[in-house]
Amino acid sequence: MIPAAPNAGCDSAAAPVLRERGQREVFCGLTGIVWLHRKIQDAFFLVVGSRTCAHLIQSAAGVMVFAEPRFATAIMEEKDLAGLADANEELDNVVDRLLERRPDIKLLFLVGSCPSEVIKLDLSRAAQRLSTKHQPKVRVLNYSGSGIETTFTQGEDACLAALVPEAPSAGDDATPSLLVVGALPDVVEDQFSRLFAELGIGPVAFFPPRRSGEIPAVGPNTRMLIAQPFLGDTARALEARGAKRLPALFPFGAEGTTHWLKAAADAWDVPEMDFRRVVAPHRERAKRALARSKETLDGRSIFFFPDSQLEPPLARFLAEELGMRPIEIGTPYLNRDLLSEELKRLPEGAQLSEGQHVDKQLDRCRDARPDLVVCGLGLANPLEREGLTTKWSIELVFSPVHGFDQAGDLAALFARPFARRSVLRV
Ligand code: SF4
Repeated sequence: MIPAAPNAGCDSAAAPVLRERGQREVFCGLTGIVWLHRKIQDAFFLVVGSRTCAHLIQSAAGVMVFAEPRFATAIMEEKDLAGLADANEELDNVVDRLLERRPDIKLLFLVGSCPSEVIKLDLSRAAQRLSTKHQPKVRVLNYSGSGIETTFTQGEDACLAALVPEAPSAGDDATPSLLVVGALPDVVEDQFSRLFAELGIGPVAFFPPRRSGEIPAVGPNTRMLIAQPFLGDTARALEARGAKRLPALFPFGAEGTTHWLKAAADAWDVPEMDFRRVVAPHRERAKRALARSKETLDGRSIFFFPDSQLEPPLARFLAEELGMRPIEIGTPYLNRDLLSEELKRLPEGAQLSEGQHVDKQLDRCRDARPDLVVCGLGLANPLEREGLTTKWSIELVFSPVHGFDQAGDLAALFARPFARRSVLRV
């Protein structure tokens, strides 16, 4: 047990963090391609990896090859790994062929993997070389999605951090603007855009943008609302460009979304009465949508294995708005800056844990016998077999869960495993 740092910006000193290192059961950062390739519509993600990487992406994304997906894997063969072939030359040929066949690509990400890192293939130099060759038609960037360096959602963080230098500079005299950071489904972006417009907050831009040519300018008058708790590197890169982060809860549930919007409203000096007039109907509707799941979830205990870094805000949402009782809130990394508001509101008695030693954590979970376990796919089936009810954490990243209109759906994701178990019970 390591007491939290006293200056961590939260009162989590009262809630010691259990830090563990050991075997982890998490997906690698390549997984982010599954949602990122749908978001930036003229981008392409070329994984430089092995057949394993290709299988992971293909099966996780579930896209048919004939659908011309915006991702692929340049497969490294044994001769590449043994250093018998010039991997750079082969990569250049693959990229040339790809760009010739797909003139719609405007932004190409070279995505590093475990194999490319093991042979120390320098993808940043490759990206520079290929950018020079294919500019101005195509920009080539790189980031790592390797399981050595990243877990599950960190791939998005690495991708967006790589995109930050592409943002034009906004000077000191630029109009104050709001930047919403984190890949959100288009429908959720549209809902937030309408709310910001009603509140008189703007101009508003989203990062990443839907098209690579629409990367918003960033500077000292940029205010950021972070939409995903796993974007630590991206937030730091934007802050280095002068942007200022608005500390807030994450927009999960009625309370989280209200708090998140209020942070922007305060920065834009929106009068309290106006804020309430705009937000209250949405907030009330969200609360009503939660009521049905609350009947199932109220009073039940929940145990989070570390997976996506969404765990602390989700635990706060489930405890405050649905009456659940978090026993352990595991997260792969605890970013105290981004989570400063969340940590203040975690329920007393919940064990916060960072990192993973999967065997020890499984023992704690079995001892606690929680009503619901949130974990990765690899742990879910064995735990179900032991009689525990589980929720796949990956669904929480793949489903639209942010904002007022999704609050009911988010709660239902946690209620559904109970319904399933009662149906299966004989
Ligand atoms: S990047 Fe590493 S962990 Fe991810 S699929 Fe490829 S080999 Fe596996």
